[in-house]
Amino acid sequence: MINTAVHIDNLSVYYGQTPALAGVCLDVADGDYLGIIGPNGGGKSTLLKAILGLAPVVEGTVQIYGKSPGKSRALVGYVPQFAAMDRRFPITLFEVVLTGCLKQGLTPFFRFTAKDKEIAHELLERVGIASLANRQIAELSGGEFQKMLIARALAINPRLLLLDEPTASVDAVSRDQIYGLLAELNQNMTIILVTHDLLAISSKVHRLACLNSRLVYHGEPELSGEIVNSLYGCPVDLIAHGVPHRVLKEHGEENQID
Ligand code: ADP
Repeated sequence: MINTAVHIDNLSVYYGQTPALAGVCLDVADGDYLGIIGPNGGGKSTLLKAILGLAPVVEGTVQIYGKSPGKSRALVGYVPQFAAMDRRFPITLFEVVLTGCLKQGLTPFFRFTAKDKEIAHELLERVGIASLANRQIAELSGGEFQKMLIARALAINPRLLLLDEPTASVDAVSRDQIYGLLAELNQNMTIILVTHDLLAISSKVHRLACLNSRLVYHGEPELSGEIVNSLYGCPVDLIAHGVPHRVLKEHGEENQID
């Protein structure tokens, strides 16, 4: 039984001449719930893409349950950033979730099976939007849209779920529902959550990673108002509700990666 979900060793990613990640080392245990925070452009989305095998890696390795990203696709569910999705596309919520059941991509005369449709219905129930199944995605609220993306990511029954800011553009009630759902899912899957939601860091995740091209901190999610105010010494600035904060109490040597 492999008890490391993600093993990242000395990972560097460049987009052309632009370094997005430099020498990142990170282990995520099976069953963990890791929050990743950091400034815009700090490489958070790129780290998720590296786990998915979609980033231009120039150095280092990524392993998912002991396999390369290319061989672990069936284990990993991905909820992309809201802004990355075109909401004008004419498709219903149910159809989007159904696309999560695609394993090998579309082939000629492909049809979803009755089982696929049953799974999609169950997932909509699970995330609490079954009554909206036939609604066009352009007509969904931010919260409904994010729940749809989570349902789609769950269609493969992943062992590892990656979420890129799933509470962005979401009202407070939906945000709480999404965190409740993630806590439930974490009972049998590993979760990596990229977020700007600092409250989530203190109360929801089990571990925290602080990313600014380099992994600046990896450890306990020790976040509170008091800590936020006393966090000088951490080189990562975060923007919460428009206010820059420094977030971590102290970065002891044992937690420093570099
Ligand atoms: P974050 O998610 O923390 O905001 P990203 O991973 O999106 O950060 O981006 C990290 C860096 O890589 C930024 O400088 C960004 O401009 C750059 N970058 C990200 N994606 C691309 C891309 N497809 N092409 C070129 N540069 C990119």
